[in-house]
Amino acid sequence: MTDTIFHKIIRREIPADIVYEDDGLIAFRDIAPQAPVHVLFVPKVDVATLNDVQADQAAVVGRLAFAAARYAKEQGFAEDGYRIVMNCNDHGGQTVFQIHLHLLAGAPLGRFGT
Ligand code: 5GP
Repeated sequence: MTDTIFHKIIRREIPADIVYEDDGLIAFRDIAPQAPVHVLFVPKVDVATLNDVQADQAAVVGRLAFAAARYAKEQGFAEDGYRIVMNCNDHGGQTVFQIHLHLLAGAPLGRFGT
């Protein structure tokens, strides 16, 4: 069974600053923010990396992006803009092996990286 720090957050075994949750996903502030706004959107279905998303799970990724955009609009920074990032495996810098989408905002971001 997959078990990561994010699963522990979903199960409320460790604390997190949760900003949104529904049946399919949870969103909480990154513990080491790389921008004034840095929120992680994590699905509740177990998928380790983007490589592991099956065809019938593609909507899971879309829901993460949709939830991030909705959050940006609700928080009032959508028009200023934001960045979404998904890291995959070693070269992508992935450190937690449950897929997640980073939402970064609150200031002009560099052209590459964060
Ligand atoms: P990755 O590098 O896998 O794309 O992103 C993992 C992210 O999870 C990192 O930005 C890291 O700061 C964040 N993170 C790691 N452990 C915790 C934790 O215990 N709580 C929270 N809120 N974020 C975490």
